[in-house]
Amino acid sequence: MAQRDLILLGPPGAGKGTHADYLMAHMSYAHLSTGDLLRAAVAKDSDLGKQAQGYMEAGELVPDDLVIDLVAERMEQLDCQMHFLLDGFPRTTAQAEALAGMLETLNREQPLVMNLAVSDAEVVRRLSGRRMCLDCGTIYNVHRDGLDIGDKCPQCGGELYRRSDDEPEAIRNRLKVYEQDSAPLIEYYQQRGQLVAVDAEQGQQQVSAELAELAQGRRPC
Ligand code: AMP
Repeated sequence: MAQRDLILLGPPGAGKGTHADYLMAHMSYAHLSTGDLLRAAVAKDSDLGKQAQGYMEAGELVPDDLVIDLVAERMEQLDCQMHFLLDGFPRTTAQAEALAGMLETLNREQPLVMNLAVSDAEVVRRLSGRRMCLDCGTIYNVHRDGLDIGDKCPQCGGELYRRSDDEPEAIRNRLKVYEQDSAPLIEYYQQRGQLVAVDAEQGQQQVSAELAELAQGRRPC
């Protein structure tokens, strides 16, 4: 089976960003993370950033039309020979339907959807321990790496901080939002024969290796 466009699905803290980095380092993909694009818009204080900031800080979803426009714009810039890796999009059925329409228009095959399954308790443990570099955006975890707020990033020396949406109140809200808006996507993609489930509570390297095998079509879906 040939390489396909990919979607990483799963609750916040499932490891979508970390596994996307692994897949990018080992295979050729254009990474499209709506969380990263939205954080960049907030940092630039653009119109989109101003509209998105409040939702993001509260752990709410940014309205569909804003996110769909952002993805459509980015998708049009992609070299059509390049496979993409979508991380954090779609998050609602309306976004999934808009994406399917975009891909049809661009004459692209519908992507393989990898569902990273993690329990709520593990999500809370991971997110409350997550630290991010202010300068290069590298993600660490106090449980795994021993690095905490105010420490220096081993990659670039930038300062580590906790994202405001990783505060306990925002985590609870993000889980609620995930259950309500994003969990139905599992059934949506299952019905279309695009979904494959991966146990994302295994060790990080094991999960990454499993995803890479699936992405290369070496394991039956
Ligand atoms: P992430 O880095 O993927 O966890 O995204 C961080 C935040 O950005 C989310 O909690 C949402 O507020 C917003 N966001 C990212 N992707 C989407 C999306 N596809 N739809 C709506 N909001 C999004």
